Amino acid sequence: MRRTTPFLAAGLVVVGLELSTQAASLTLVRLSSGFQSMRAGFGYLVSPTRFVVGVSLLAIGLFAFVAQMILESAEGRVSAVGDVCPVCRGDTERMKRLRMHRILSTFMGRRLTRRRCNACKWTGLSVKY
Ligand SMILES: [Zn+2]
Repeated sequence: MRRTTPFLAAGLVVVGLELSTQAASLTLVRLSSGFQSMRAGFGYLVSPTRFVVGVSLLAIGLFAFVAQMILESAEGRVSAVGDVCPVCRGDTERMKRLRMHRILSTFMGRRLTRRRCNACKWTGLSVKY
């Protein structure tokens, strides 16, 4: 649940700006008229180049924010270190990783293994050191 806090904070900032200054709806209206002016070829508040650069930076920033949140929430699911069960301290054995686990491992820059406990039937991701 603690991983939702940045989203909640960003949401409060947007709602607060909207309520106090209508900045959010004004931004949406301006973005949509920017795209309309590009399609129709009429002038806009800023040059087409500046509009495209601005929209691109906005998209990259939003993507980076969401990707970071997804990565952090996935890191929160890694519950074990090494080959010891985090629930009962028993021995675990390796299982075949799913494709998403390999991708996650690449983005986290850590060697993740998928493990199963024979004693308590826990399964999960473990960081290999
Ligand atoms: Zn166990």
